[in-house]
Amino acid sequence: MPGTELFGKEEKKEINDVLETGILFRYNHDAQRNNIWKAREFENEVKKLLGAKYAHAVSSGSTAVACALAAAGIGAGDEVIVPPFTFIASIEAVLFAGALPVFAEIDETLCLSAKGIKAAITPKTKAVLLVQMCGGMAQMDEILKLCKEHNITLVEDAGQAFGASYKGTSVGLMGKTGCYSFDFFKIATCGEGGVMVTNDEQVYKNADCYSDHGHSHVGNNRGMEPHPILGFNFRMGELSAAIGLAQTRKVSFILQKNREYKKILTDVLSKVPGISFSTLPDPAGDSATFLNMFLPDTQAAKRTVDEFNRAGVGGFNYWYSNMYHFINQWDHIKELKVAAKLPIHLLGTPQDYKNLQLPKSQEVIGRLISFGIRCTWTEEEVKSLANQIKTCVEKASAVPA
Ligand SMILES: *Cc1c(COP(=O)(O)O)cnc(C)c1O
Repeated sequence: MPGTELFGKEEKKEINDVLETGILFRYNHDAQRNNIWKAREFENEVKKLLGAKYAHAVSSGSTAVACALAAAGIGAGDEVIVPPFTFIASIEAVLFAGALPVFAEIDETLCLSAKGIKAAITPKTKAVLLVQMCGGMAQMDEILKLCKEHNITLVEDAGQAFGASYKGTSVGLMGKTGCYSFDFFKIATCGEGGVMVTNDEQVYKNADCYSDHGHSHVGNNRGMEPHPILGFNFRMGELSAAIGLAQTRKVSFILQKNREYKKILTDVLSKVPGISFSTLPDPAGDSATFLNMFLPDTQAAKRTVDEFNRAGVGGFNYWYSNMYHFINQWDHIKELKVAAKLPIHLLGTPQDYKNLQLPKSQEVIGRLISFGIRCTWTEEEVKSLANQIKTCVEKASAVPA
């Protein structure tokens, strides 16, 4: 999965270009920088890979979500429909935007379902923050139709689905804004970084200003630039961008390897009774960063996890008990524990977070185990892993319930 596996001379070359000039800042200093513009080049590489009209690099995937929400006009008091299964940054971004998260059900795609979204819509619903989880994608046709019918803004957190697509369109570009993470664990990394994308020029301009204290980035005198809107500092530096640039150039190769290795795994495991896989509405668009495997139920999944641990099989996630990816462990959100008061404390929660019932999501995540696919595996290693998984699942299902 992660681009860090392939960190090498290409990244060092790009970093060195920046070190030669010492211009670590992405804007201005035209005379000293010897025409080295890594953040711009990184954004262009992302645009080319995804087919996006606009891409804007920022300091992290989390700030990219914040940027995507703000640029799409989502703010104080707006209800935003969110999934209970995501990296927690998605929910934090909504809260810190001053908006109100409304949790809805996911389905076997591991993403929000149209049915789940529909049941969560209220007159105050402004947006859906659709998280494209675990390298795959949601049922986009139904969700796009629903958003259109109800005049709801679609924002995509494709934090872990960079390179995935749905019927030829990159995920992240299905709605008004989208974003990706380039943290250390993602398919391409900057060390820390993120990118926000859109096909709308005005929305892009908002993101550009918002992420740099409102700077318009017009002209050569930074101190005298107009500031059309208020913003903050979510800027990406040139060193991070240099790494992201080299990494993005490797994504096509990583996708190809991921898909190859995932196919070897699924070919073996699809024949094992009790194993099924997450739904991929467009299998060809899967970024294949994860093999997402379902066991028949939560108990069977837990027994399987125990078997993996006993056999020393690593490299998997059991999200159901993960502190950062599933709502069951998010007590700080349920109790709105914060360092300082947020709009939600004044406006009131749109749902009783402590007593939320999301049976479908519980059932789906309870039986899900995900293996991270590594693009540097050898074919032998993949085949051996497939057999280890098979053996453990068979052992776990032999135990009487
Ligand atoms: C990783 C991730 C983020 C946050 O990205 P950072 O770069 O770690 O801030 C946001 N959303 C999703 C879905 C992620 O997987």
